[in-house]
Amino acid sequence: MKVIKFGGTSVGSAENIKRIEEIVRSQSSDLIVVVSAVGGVTDRLVAASKAGANGKEVNPFLEEIWSRHLDIMSALFDETTLEEVKIKMKSIFDELEKILQGVRLIGELTPKTLDKVMGFGERLSSLFISQFLHAELIDSASLIRTDSNHGRANVDFKVTYEQISQACSGLKRVAVAPGFISSASDGTVTTLGRGGSDYTAALFAAALDAEKLEIWTDVDGFMTADPRVISKAYTIPQLTYSEALELSHFGAKVIYPPTILPVYKKSIPVQILNTMNPSAKGTLIGNAERQGTEQPIKGISSIDGISLVTVQGLGMVGVTGIAMRLFGALAKEEINVILISQASSENSISFAIDSAKGKIAEAAIQQEFDREISSGLINKVNSEEDLCIVAIVGENMKHSAGIAGKLFNTIGKNGINVVAIAQGASEQNISWVVKKSDLRKTLNVVHESFFLSPFIELNIFLVGIGTVGKDLITQISQQQQKLQKEHRLKLRICGIANSRKMIFNREGFDLSAITSILSGEGVEKSDMTCFCSQMIGMNMFNSVFVDCTAEKKVADHYHTILNNYISIVAANKVAASSDYLAYRELKELAAKHGVKYLFETNVGAGLPLISTINDLMRSGDRIVRIEAVLSGTLNYIFNTLSSEIPLSKAIRMSKEKGFSEPDPRIDLSGVDVIRKLVILGRESGYKLSQEDVGQKRFIPDSYFNSTLEDFWNNIHEMDAKFEAERLILEKERKKWRFVGLMEEGRASVSLQAVGPGHPFYDLEGSNNIILLTTERYNESPMLIKGYGAGAAVTAAGVFADLIKVANI
Ligand code: ADP
Ligand code: ASP
Ligand code: MG
Repeated sequence: MKVIKFGGTSVGSAENIKRIEEIVRSQSSDLIVVVSAVGGVTDRLVAASKAGANGKEVNPFLEEIWSRHLDIMSALFDETTLEEVKIKMKSIFDELEKILQGVRLIGELTPKTLDKVMGFGERLSSLFISQFLHAELIDSASLIRTDSNHGRANVDFKVTYEQISQACSGLKRVAVAPGFISSASDGTVTTLGRGGSDYTAALFAAALDAEKLEIWTDVDGFMTADPRVISKAYTIPQLTYSEALELSHFGAKVIYPPTILPVYKKSIPVQILNTMNPSAKGTLIGNAERQGTEQPIKGISSIDGISLVTVQGLGMVGVTGIAMRLFGALAKEEINVILISQASSENSISFAIDSAKGKIAEAAIQQEFDREISSGLINKVNSEEDLCIVAIVGENMKHSAGIAGKLFNTIGKNGINVVAIAQGASEQNISWVVKKSDLRKTLNVVHESFFLSPFIELNIFLVGIGTVGKDLITQISQQQQKLQKEHRLKLRICGIANSRKMIFNREGFDLSAITSILSGEGVEKSDMTCFCSQMIGMNMFNSVFVDCTAEKKVADHYHTILNNYISIVAANKVAASSDYLAYRELKELAAKHGVKYLFETNVGAGLPLISTINDLMRSGDRIVRIEAVLSGTLNYIFNTLSSEIPLSKAIRMSKEKGFSEPDPRIDLSGVDVIRKLVILGRESGYKLSQEDVGQKRFIPDSYFNSTLEDFWNNIHEMDAKFEAERLILEKERKKWRFVGLMEEGRASVSLQAVGPGHPFYDLEGSNNIILLTTERYNESPMLIKGYGAGAAVTAAGVFADLIKVANI
């Protein structure tokens, strides 16, 4: 004998009921089929009752409920049978209508009446489904005996088991029983609590010593997290009874918590299966033998709509009986306490309850501790709302050290504030309270760090889609599949902005169409403050802000961004090269919050200059001297100069090739090299600012004080002078190099002529070169050389920083 239960979705359409028929037909054992109400009907019955009690019309609800059933039945039965079934259904329905009209007339809804009304969902569904399956109909309500605690009645197991086994002894192969409904000893209808059809099925299974209980629902089984929130959640193949109980108690709705006890006592295995996907293996709950390889955490679940009440006072320390009185007062009001946390100093007790009961709880405590409160032994009772509880569950936790450490480290790094923590001594469960606004993020980070999620996600917010930004998008979309396959890394762009428009998408944009996304629907006017507040408001885990602009007004937001636990990857050099104290603060803020602030491309585009300096420093080396050609643009210009290509043309060519800054004078003035040198100096541990760098310009100041347009119009005036000097250099077999030098914290930039044999002499095109003299690399400096400018290499450098943020 098997008991199989079908939930609301499974009986919610003719198509699904036909699936049920197939499932039933494929079983070889005798069956009791327990059914829920048609999906959504119980909610409508509650709504109808409440409307009636408020004097509102109940007919629209009745019509809706009837037509739901009629639609399904019309698709299941032929015309003649339909008429017969309709008559039987109508007689039950008339009873419902009378009660609801009565509620409306009296204007009152007692818990007893509400139970009666709610029970009609299962009465109706079981009737027509039993007809469809040609099965006998069992009257569960009369067999399951409870007390009169309406809304969630307590079962009298002894009477119930006796009644069930007696009534079911002579059953034919398949019988159908309504879930959820029961009755008190005086015959009044009671219910087992919302979701209670699972419980009904467990009671039948236990009473009849069934070989198995199957719960057929709309998901593939108990999953590592609620699949509606975590799309990467996957089915857990096996759970022990207590793991299933803990998970369901903390909100995993897939099974109603009281269901576990009856089957656990009789060691009846429970299988969760999917009506919509019957071939999936589902989850087996039972006394399964443990396998050593199992993960310590089996699943995560959560409950929202929670208030945390704290009772605090020095007068509580060492006084016995406080907890007893506190929880006694709550029990009197029938308030269910979901989590308790007490500090060992005993001067406060916090507990979590359903927010709806918050006011009643406060009043009950005030009353109970009236004397202590007025004498100041207990401070005022304080309650915090809009919270939720998250729990991780797994019996293997007790065999693994460091779970709590890892858990709260991960949560903290993502900027999630933990309001309270509780761990049962059984070590099967760690539960904690967070703000409702942090729930989704919490579930995501915990799921990602504890489960072998198929991939790690990095949620990118990209500002600036000029040449570098565009190239970055292309590179991400080209590499995406490989990264996902080989490194389990999924890069998603969830926010994007240029100087005019911005747009966001929590699920990530389709990268193939991303450049056109800002001309499509849903775009907003771009504004950096708005961009940042929306990004922060989305509160997504593993977020990274990517700045591919050269704007101060973007860099001004870094502080806020890091403060909100979002990493930054910047191609923009403004922040790292401007005010020294602000730079230090950003670095410290990132370290404090456990996020990254990376700007490798600020110097030498994709060349690993900053990371090499960082590695040397971390390993105890000291940077003594840096000599470098750091302007790919200037190097390109000086390498391009020839008798055919004068200075003005070379500058123009560097702009066209995307080497120079939008205003090439930033390169020509040496400012760009100064900024880069300052960054390298700072990363080498020196307190260096742009004003400290000595420089001599090679183009007169007047070119820098006029407008950009004037500059382009007049720069050709310098061509002759440069050509004359170039000819002299050519004779001396020398080349121009714009060199940055930093020695023990003193820095300068200048145009130098270098001869063959100098390491800078053969530096081609737009390449950069850096000579690092350190305490270890002393006699022969370390040399790094390669492309130092261009959108593609810069984008590749930004990409490399992104990979560092992901930490793969
Ligand atoms: P039924 O009507 O079949 O009883 P329920 O709606 O009561 O189904 O329960 C199934 C739902 O539980 C799923 O659709 C899913 O959204 C939700 N759920 C929450 N947590 C979990 C979890 N950990 N695993 C599977 N489902 C979950
Ligand atoms: N129909 C009831 C409810 O919606 C019981 C159940 O489906 O398990 O709560
Ligand atoms: Mg359910």
